[in-house]
Amino acid sequence: MTGICYCDCAASVTVRGASATCASRKERIDKTQVAYARHTLQGAARHFLFANLMKTTRTQIARLLLCLLIIAAALTQPLSDAHGWGPHGHEMSGRAAAMKLPEQMPKFFRNAVAQLGYLNQEPDRWRDRAESDLDKALDSAYAPDHFIDLELVPPAAFDAVNRYDFTAELIKAGRKPTAAGFAPFRILELFQSLRIQFRLWRAERDPNKRKWIEQRIINDAGVLGHYVSDAANPHHTTIHYNGWSGDNPKGYTVFTREHDQGIHYRFEELYVQTHIQLNDVAQLIGKERVIAKPREEIWNYIRSSNALVEQLYILDKQEKFNAETKSPEHKKFVSGRLAAGAQMLRDMWWTAWVTSAAPPAPTP
Ligand SMILES: [Zn+2]
Repeated sequence: MTGICYCDCAASVTVRGASATCASRKERIDKTQVAYARHTLQGAARHFLFANLMKTTRTQIARLLLCLLIIAAALTQPLSDAHGWGPHGHEMSGRAAAMKLPEQMPKFFRNAVAQLGYLNQEPDRWRDRAESDLDKALDSAYAPDHFIDLELVPPAAFDAVNRYDFTAELIKAGRKPTAAGFAPFRILELFQSLRIQFRLWRAERDPNKRKWIEQRIINDAGVLGHYVSDAANPHHTTIHYNGWSGDNPKGYTVFTREHDQGIHYRFEELYVQTHIQLNDVAQLIGKERVIAKPREEIWNYIRSSNALVEQLYILDKQEKFNAETKSPEHKKFVSGRLAAGAQMLRDMWWTAWVTSAAPPAPTP
């Protein structure tokens, strides 16, 4: 998205979409405003330093004051970590998963590689800033679907049947019901929806209805992909989602609400955009398998991601994740995380298809 600088210095600034934010949990950031603020700050500085103040007109002074007001407004916005894998990372996840499907998967699904890549980012699009400003119902309700802070989950909540029972356990433990996030439930819910759609597709004989069901399948599968991909990022499984919170004896990168300075953005977006390509991810994906116990394996998948939180911080301490990072170890780690997400996603799609078949009749 391109915006024109309000300070009227005849420059334009390219900024990321105003609300393409993902897991902004407690709060959210408007990157556009921050980009504007920075740009207008530069513009204002130029006015101050290089303009002949003696010739400054009232109009110019008014513009300058407007710039300063914009800066002040932007800097008072709450800041947070606010992202998933970024558009590049999400698209790669969806594409890599779809590329690694077995030939026995229905052809309409295997042909949807590009669409499944596109849809992997879809839940971030629902976080549209302009829409949220009109009414926060959607954004505030869906934001916790992008993460699960395992440290905040009371033991009894791991056995909750659904997200409502889960919130009841959090309330019992004295926590805000949405504090820990709902990622495992969102994944399981969408997986079940997908399996139902596959079942309907198998049974449907009307060619038109079959086409409609195919559209539903691709849509649900693509959206499922977002949450599975998010959970592969250790930041989406922990309270240390944008820097280390609380005691920090090992001196890891500390928690911040400053989005563009935070490890969350540097790791999953800045680094991924500049270092990881589709093949880096796809080549690490193993052979497909049917997931025997989806609910259990979703939780295990999230735990395995959470187990890498400290490793992520150790790497960042060795060399910061950003556009200039040189370390091959960093690349291996990030490629491995994206591939783990894509592999889990491919296996969930495959499992939904295989297990949607009617079970064989029992032997008399
Ligand atoms: Zn997300």
